[in-house]
Amino acid sequence: MLNQRITLKARPARIPGPEHFSQDAIPVPPLGRGELLVETMYLSIDPAMRSWISDSSGYARSIAIGHVMRAGGIGRVLRTEAEGFAPGDLVQGRTGWQSLPVLRGHETQKLDLSLGSLEDWIGPLGTSALTAYFGVRDIGALKPGETLLVSAAAGGVGQIAAQIGLIDACRVIGIAGGQAKCQFLRDTLGLHGVIDYKAENDLISAIRRESAEGIDVYFDNVGGPILDAALANLRTDARVVLCGRISQTTAPEPYGIRNLGMLGGKRITIRNFLVFDCHDRYPEARAWLSAQTRGGRLHQRLHVVDGLENAPRALQMLFTGENTGKLVIRTAA
Ligand code: NAP
Repeated sequence: MLNQRITLKARPARIPGPEHFSQDAIPVPPLGRGELLVETMYLSIDPAMRSWISDSSGYARSIAIGHVMRAGGIGRVLRTEAEGFAPGDLVQGRTGWQSLPVLRGHETQKLDLSLGSLEDWIGPLGTSALTAYFGVRDIGALKPGETLLVSAAAGGVGQIAAQIGLIDACRVIGIAGGQAKCQFLRDTLGLHGVIDYKAENDLISAIRRESAEGIDVYFDNVGGPILDAALANLRTDARVVLCGRISQTTAPEPYGIRNLGMLGGKRITIRNFLVFDCHDRYPEARAWLSAQTRGGRLHQRLHVVDGLENAPRALQMLFTGENTGKLVIRTAA
């Protein structure tokens, strides 16, 4: 049996792409005690990967040149030497960009299919949805009747954050790049207002146009000029949830925030967070997300790219805005 792998070839200066990765195939090693052989089915493609392949990756270790690209994935157990697992079990774990990874049992989780289907575990029960849940409800402390503004609102995290706002009876404004994404937000998800930031000359006015009373919670997925424009539109006691800063991870120069002076005496809270810090509360979040999904109130659009070999190209799509919804690689039927 040959394990198809994608390894890191070079560190990107800006946007990552196929030129930064290599592909090979090596024999699957014999299993040691506590290990599982898994056939990868889906791989999550995440903006954080850009920092993992840089020299200084922040909260996670940098991936060394020549090593398999790190990734979370879902697969089926083929063989096991780990207690509590059987061939055929569906599991999630650190599969990396490889077709037949050997995983450690204690780092691998069996999917609880009573909460949702295999696709639900990639979508509304996956890490993007958990990020939205804790970001909006805990860090943002969103209350019914408030106004929520979400950037990258048509992406994996953003679409769930926006829908949580709708479920919690809030006015929800989404920012996204391009007409098609804005149409998805307005017509499919039912957001109250949308802003195509690529078509606006003056973002501060565009946000004011959609929320004349101001913003109570800004869920920031992008940083840079969009964050800056949101700061100019906050209400008293507003909360800014710094979830991610994708616009800055590939920017040639860091963007200097100008509008902090506009916070005046509004007693604004600005807080960043990591979803992994909430690990102990994933069961609570998944129970809620599962109930909302089953009740038809929460939808997760998946953007599926087929083939492990297309993972490097898919990663590029996050930074060019080519994905709508949660971006995943499907490696096996
Ligand atoms: P995503 O939103 O599905 O995809 C990224 C989107 O970012 C693109 O589709 C694009 O949408 C937008 N974008 C790219 N470059 C941009 C730029 N220069 N300016 C403005 N928008 C830009 O990705 P995701 O996986 O859901 O992640 C969203 C954010 O959450 C990321 O910042 C990620 O790092 C963060 N995150 C944080 C945590 C945490 O624990 N804090 C966990 C997971 C993810 P448009 O076409 O609309 O521009």
